[in-house]
Amino acid sequence: MTRFITMVYCTAANCRNGFGSGKGMFNYPTDPVLRQIWIRKVHRLDKHQPDNLWRPSRYSKLCSHHFMADSFFIIPALAASVGFNLLKLQLKPGAIPTLNMGHPEPTGMVKKR
Ligand SMILES: [Zn+2]
Repeated sequence: MTRFITMVYCTAANCRNGFGSGKGMFNYPTDPVLRQIWIRKVHRLDKHQPDNLWRPSRYSKLCSHHFMADSFFIIPALAASVGFNLLKLQLKPGAIPTLNMGHPEPTGMVKKR
C-alpha cells in the first residue's frame, strides 16, 4: 500500500495516539447529527471560534481508544488475538466515542504535563 501518511494525531483531549501507535484512526462522521455528537463528546475548546467550541477539520481523527468494543465490526481484542491488522478496524455506523475522553476538570484545571 502506498498511501501518503502525514503525522496525524487523535483529537481527543490528552490522547497522544496517532498513526504509528498501532491504533485505528477514524475520521469524524460526515453525518451532521452524528458529527455534532462526536464534537460534544470530544468537547475541546477553541477560543478562535465564535462559540468557543472546537470543530474538527477534514483531517481530524479519533483513535480506537475511545470506542467501546461493541462499536466495532470486529472486537479489537479478538482481532488482535488472530493477528488482524488493528489499523483496518472499522466502526459500526452510528458509533459514538465514550471512553477515555480526558475531559479537564470542571474547575478549569490546567492540563498537567
Ligand atoms: Zn485517542
